[in-house]
Amino acid sequence: MTVFATFIGKLAQLLSPAKAKGDHLLQTYIGLVPNPLSKRSQQLQPRIHDAQTYRSVCPYCAVGCGQRIYVQDGRVIDIEGDSDSPVSGGCLCPKGAASFELVVNPNRWTTVKYRAPYATDWEEKPLDWAMDRIAQLVYETREATFQEKNKEGKPLNNTLAIGSLGGATLDNEENYLITKLFHSLGMVCIENQARI
Ligand code: SF4
Repeated sequence: MTVFATFIGKLAQLLSPAKAKGDHLLQTYIGLVPNPLSKRSQQLQPRIHDAQTYRSVCPYCAVGCGQRIYVQDGRVIDIEGDSDSPVSGGCLCPKGAASFELVVNPNRWTTVKYRAPYATDWEEKPLDWAMDRIAQLVYETREATFQEKNKEGKPLNNTLAIGSLGGATLDNEENYLITKLFHSLGMVCIENQARI
């Protein structure tokens, strides 16, 4: 059976129009049969054809798979695996493959949900409002709990009343800034779920 298949393969190679007329026939023939692609199909281009390509790294986990981000008219139109990445060779897991929806998504939350102390309902607040409130609470808490020295008089310069728990989409640079800022405030409870 193997011999027969090999014979048929050799014969097909000898009879193939591509053998006689050049490699471009690979696009117009499938073996001995003319390629059934219509003229319209042959002229179709992928939607990323005219887009600018930017190389990046998936923001989600420590594997660090390579991504290509396609931008057209200042807008991200697609994110795909980067086949030049030595880490991932063009592959992305389902989470990384959905990165586009992290960037472009009409259902993404753009406001903050806030529940006041003792309230039972959530209110929607603008992000700026939440930033001001967090800054104010950090300031007040640090002022109230900052310890310059311990009981023996040794310097501490810390507060144990404020902590930070980071998320997986924080990258190296953001984590660097978080660490610098929070340590400079005297915070020591700093943790991050990301592993990059
Ligand atoms: S594509 Fe998946 S495995 Fe790769 S870095 Fe992103 S989350 Fe991690």
